[in-house]
Amino acid sequence: MTAKVIDGKAFAAGVRAQVAAHVAKLAEENGIQPGLAVVLVGEDPASKVYVKNKHASTIEVGMASFEHRLPAETSEATLLALIDSLNADPKVHGILVQLPLPAHLNSELVINRISPAKDVDGFHISNVGLLGTGQKSMVPCTPLGCLMMLRDHHGKLAGLNAVVVGRSNIVGKPMAQLLLGDSCTVTIAHSRTKDLAAVCRGADILVAAVGRPEMITGDMVKPGATVIDVGINRIERDGKAKLVGDVHYESAAAVAGAITPVPGGVGPMTIACLLANTLTSCCRANGLPEPKGLTA
Ligand code: NDP
Repeated sequence: MTAKVIDGKAFAAGVRAQVAAHVAKLAEENGIQPGLAVVLVGEDPASKVYVKNKHASTIEVGMASFEHRLPAETSEATLLALIDSLNADPKVHGILVQLPLPAHLNSELVINRISPAKDVDGFHISNVGLLGTGQKSMVPCTPLGCLMMLRDHHGKLAGLNAVVVGRSNIVGKPMAQLLLGDSCTVTIAHSRTKDLAAVCRGADILVAAVGRPEMITGDMVKPGATVIDVGINRIERDGKAKLVGDVHYESAAAVAGAITPVPGGVGPMTIACLLANTLTSCCRANGLPEPKGLTA
């Protein structure tokens, strides 16, 4: 069997187009423009690239983009004051503080200062609690993107066995909550899991969010399963820099029914879902119906 390739790049382009159409409608019918504020503290090169890409994508769908670049030595009080002002600004519907923050800043304190309604990353403790109790929340972008692709591929997910490898707060745990919300039977595996291969082989849906290059190999995949590879690992092979996932693509694709590639799978969905969350937040703030198909 050769797996169907789930094209995240094309899927994300579709999501961005849907968001753009909704943004245009909001402007025309309601005179409202959704706005996303991104806060970058310091000079981390990867973070700078992410922030630049987020800015360009925000503008592209017709939203307002507010960028706040602060020096690495910014005090906690200054950063919290900026978040307070963004919380109070009616033009801002989404606030994202780019992580990681410099070591002297307490990420939890900073993230929990964001108004939960504007927390488009879905990391605020209130949103984590709302998701865990099956209530309306802001859902973390990467797992939301995975869920959208899974729903599109499978239709209904109810009753399927899902295994999520990784239990981070950013990916693994919210992914498991979302799959549970869609009535999958969910197992969360991690570094202390016994016989990971056997656990993975029980999965109709296998989500890898580990951060270990090509760790999930074809012999760990149930024939016909859907494999979602969240991993982004930069490695060197044959003297060349290469981007690989947490799944060994060739061996897994020979067994799976469907698989996301790296690059071009989950990655592009993350920014698309950030835009979707900003739109959702704007609709909620204005008492308007939420966009269909763009939320959990
Ligand atoms: P974390 O490092 O926070 O978590 C990794 C998880 O994998 C942990 O729960 C850890 O278990 C588990 N793990 C580590 N080694 C093993 C092992 N040998 N067997 C089983 N489980 C193991 O990573 P993130 O969740 O933040 O990210 C995971 C991957 O996803 C990374 O490659 C990251 O780059 C990528 N990523 C991609 C995004 C995208 O937009 N596509 C967005 C965010 C992340 P334990 O808890 O026991 O230590």
